[in-house]
Amino acid sequence: MRTPYERKEMFGAETEIETVKSILLEKYERCVYCGSKLLFSHDLNLGLLEIVESSRCTGCGVSHHPKKFTLQ
Ligand SMILES: [Zn+2]
Repeated sequence: MRTPYERKEMFGAETEIETVKSILLEKYERCVYCGSKLLFSHDLNLGLLEIVESSRCTGCGVSHHPKKFTLQ
């Protein structure tokens, strides 16, 4: 059953995801080994409101530990 309250909550979550995405896209980090720019990829899990960020070096190919962000 749908209620106005549920719809409002869903809209709020989508807005937060857009905010977090824009924050993540502005971030640039460099590889600690060779100084090349890291390539980030983000997996959105909308069911759990979770973002998993994994990064890989474009120079030497080293992968870094994925980070998890949870949207409240
Ligand atoms: Zn590297």
